[in-house]
Amino acid sequence: MNIAVIGAGIGGLAISAFLARAGHSVTVLESFPEPRPVGAGLLLQPPGQAVLQHLGILEPVAAASSTISRLQSLTHTGRTLLDVRYAHLAPPARHGLGVRRAILHGTLLNCSRHAGVKHLHGIQVSGTEADATGEWVLSGDGRHGPYDLVIIATGARSDWLGADSGRRRARRYPWGCLWATLPLPATLDPAVLHQRCLGGRFMAGLLPTGAGADGQTTAAFYWSVRHDRPLPALDEIRAWFSHYWPEAAIALQGISDTDLSVAVYYDVWARKPVVGRTVMIGDVAHGTSPQLGQGCTSALLDAYRLASCLAELSTPVDTALATYRKHRAGHQRYIRYASIGLTPVFQTDNRLIAGMRDFALGALSGLPGARALAARSLASDVCLKEEKAPSAPSGS
Ligand SMILES: Cc1cc2nc3c(=O)[nH]c(=O)nc-3n(C[C@H](O)[C@H](O)[C@H](O)COP(=O)(O)OP(=O)(O)OC[C@H]3O[C@@H](n4cnc5c(N)ncnc54)[C@H](O)[C@@H]3O)c2cc1C
Repeated sequence: MNIAVIGAGIGGLAISAFLARAGHSVTVLESFPEPRPVGAGLLLQPPGQAVLQHLGILEPVAAASSTISRLQSLTHTGRTLLDVRYAHLAPPARHGLGVRRAILHGTLLNCSRHAGVKHLHGIQVSGTEADATGEWVLSGDGRHGPYDLVIIATGARSDWLGADSGRRRARRYPWGCLWATLPLPATLDPAVLHQRCLGGRFMAGLLPTGAGADGQTTAAFYWSVRHDRPLPALDEIRAWFSHYWPEAAIALQGISDTDLSVAVYYDVWARKPVVGRTVMIGDVAHGTSPQLGQGCTSALLDAYRLASCLAELSTPVDTALATYRKHRAGHQRYIRYASIGLTPVFQTDNRLIAGMRDFALGALSGLPGARALAARSLASDVCLKEEKAPSAPSGS
């Protein structure tokens, strides 16, 4: 088939590589003048790693990443809120990967180019349109196509699909974060995603993301912010760290205010991810806040599953798209609801909610059933059975 993929992000690059390798003619249309990663670092879950293994790029990504064995969230007084360990999963042994976006994005881009995908940059897509010849992709410089299939992978803030179009709904969270890439302090365990909360007032985290060019372990730093309030100055954040998280304070020494970027979170749900010969994958169809660290894994799983459905030669494309939707919906829904439930608990200025969180979560996380469910949710291992997810790599 002649296939267009709109968006050269995580999901778009992965699906383009899978489909080009399957013999399709694939064109990626991206609005940036040069494809580039957006954001600092991310936690890649075992099923996402397995998709990279299918693409043959897990090894270089893993080699440049940190192996994460545990997510530890503490209050400023050192009380445990969450202690989620991959070791609490049933065998085989699994772990997360803390990876810099530039590494993951760059490796996927090379993979897509080597698979023979054609990349068109600087094209801001404004819509699609079908006629008797096929699907057309519309942009300011005219129509591209016709294509037999158009895959929309434009991320959570997809302007042309409209936040409230009948096809999808997108709601902006009042909370987001400031983020930056920093050196991980030597005092912090490089196998742990560290998080600190102070009541309803502050939430900060450091995710180890592999060694940088100087050999030192880097970390993705995040600091929760509310968009309707003035952003805190770096000095204010530094003062908080000195007071409440002194062993991590050194990480903030070498940066300036301009190194901090603002991230906005969306809750997105596509009621109609498949319309005619167009299909949405990744955040444009089911964006969540990143509390559970699932977005990239989910976009990669979408790409893998869609490519598998389209690979059934005897299946008409429309049936393949319907099957894809059926396979992925349960997992996408679980992540969405888990994230809708967790986000206001961790990003809140309500003292009552924060107090209840501090009281209840620590007690709950000691219970074996809750411990296992938390580990499975983190590892993207819930509602994937029916989906027959690619098996996780046993170690990397
Ligand atoms: C602060 C933060 C931390 C996160 N942490 C994690 C984490 O730890 N683990 C995890 O798995 N996920 C995390 N995520 C979520 C993750 O980044 C997304 O889920 C993932 O990038 C979604 O991939 P995608 O391919 O759907 O979209 P994206 O990667 O966003 O790519 C969309 C692409 O489409 C292009 N595009 C958009 N509109 C158009 C248009 N009109 N025409 C042409 N091109 C267009 C964009 O330029 C972009 O290149 C985090 C997100 C944020 C904001």
